[in-house]
Amino acid sequence: MTESLFAEASQRLDAALQHISISEDAIEHLKYPKSSLQVSIPVRMDNGSLKIFQGYRVRYDDTRGPTKGGIRYHPNVSLDEVKSLAFWMTFKCAVMDIPFGGAKGGITIDPKQLSKFELERLSRGYIDAIADFIGPDVDIAAPDVQTNPIIMGWMMDQYNIIQRKIVPAVITGKPLSMGGSLGRDTATGMGTFFAIEALMPKFQVTPKDTTVAVQGFGNAGSVVAELLCRAGYKVVAVSDSKGGIYAQDGLDIPSVRQFKNSTRDLKAVYCEGTICNIVDYRTISNEELLALDVDILVPAALENQITESNADGVRAKYIFEAANGPITAAADAILAAKGIHVFPDILINAGGVTVSYFEWVQNRSGLYWTVDEVNDRLKQKMVTETERIWSIAQEKSISMRTAAYVHALNRIGAAINAKGNRDYYVS
Ligand code: NAD
Repeated sequence: MTESLFAEASQRLDAALQHISISEDAIEHLKYPKSSLQVSIPVRMDNGSLKIFQGYRVRYDDTRGPTKGGIRYHPNVSLDEVKSLAFWMTFKCAVMDIPFGGAKGGITIDPKQLSKFELERLSRGYIDAIADFIGPDVDIAAPDVQTNPIIMGWMMDQYNIIQRKIVPAVITGKPLSMGGSLGRDTATGMGTFFAIEALMPKFQVTPKDTTVAVQGFGNAGSVVAELLCRAGYKVVAVSDSKGGIYAQDGLDIPSVRQFKNSTRDLKAVYCEGTICNIVDYRTISNEELLALDVDILVPAALENQITESNADGVRAKYIFEAANGPITAAADAILAAKGIHVFPDILINAGGVTVSYFEWVQNRSGLYWTVDEVNDRLKQKMVTETERIWSIAQEKSISMRTAAYVHALNRIGAAINAKGNRDYYVS
């Protein structure tokens, strides 16, 4: 890929600006991140040696509230990637009408190469390095790829040590025992499921006649796969970084998930209690999964999975982006020409940040909700904003992606204008 991910991401904004009247000030404002921090994190390894890791935190825009965004651990993490993810978070929070701006963080690391103690020292070191940059009214962190509630717990504890007080609202996606919210662990996949359920009836499609392939079987992908399976959709293929599994008659996703959670292996199994037996299936590559002849494709792994080079081979009719940025701008155009309906990341995976917001609200009020309360509020928000974006797309005859950006820009533009003209007076 020759273009930076951020340049790619910005193209989606340019497309939306053609369909909305918004002040030049607001447009200029949204071209650049508010601040970007790169830090070196020294970690004492178990063998006594010292290693320095690179970490990042980007706050893209805080006009609508404190910035919010996850922390990713991956070998490909770079400033460009973190900036793009922070940009998407800004629009995602506006799409959902959550009173937050967008941020993101990350460390360039393959966490599987570290011991548990090394991982904890790295996570605490990251918070040491960015502590002055974050806070419950400034910038709030959360999990993302290869980070989880355990890591969020270490990070919150480190922040508390630095602040000499308990500040649960600085990080969401924490363990329940440290002030986490019920329903946060399943929120991203559940939000994707609610959006799919709201949108598919518009195409007169019913679950039992619908085949599904899910790329990525982590937090987002495994939950949406299980919910779809339980709702009667035929989930024929799922994959992880090692490859995929395919079964024409559908996989029993609760069993596959149970087996993966206990063994880390992705296998087509049927479990009764703790006894799991292998069923008939074939292994497929991730490239094959993306080109399967299914109704619904859910990319739920990483960015840039469907590009100019493989978009032509995609045969799904509907693509729901549970991952951030899985389709490049060039691929978007190819998919549109093929008549494939794409439902964008800034709506489809917004369930995670929505329940993170609920967690922040609960931390600050000190009153905790039941899981049904959390899921009901999530459903209400997902369905409301999905319907609004659908209406914009129909009214303006534009794609759901452009409509989502138009919807977000209306809200961000209003906030930028409401801030007044201070910038004129400050030299
Ligand atoms: P995760 O680490 O829990 O899972 C990622 C999954 O993708 C793993 O199963 C991994 O093996 C698989 N994977 C990695 N590379 C792959 C490849 N090339 N092909 C197929 N599978 C591959 O991460 P997650 O939290 O589920 O995040 C997945 C995506 O969803 C990311 O784009 C993330 O930014 C986005 N997202 C996550 C959340 C959240 O709350 N976790 C919220 C919003 C968006």
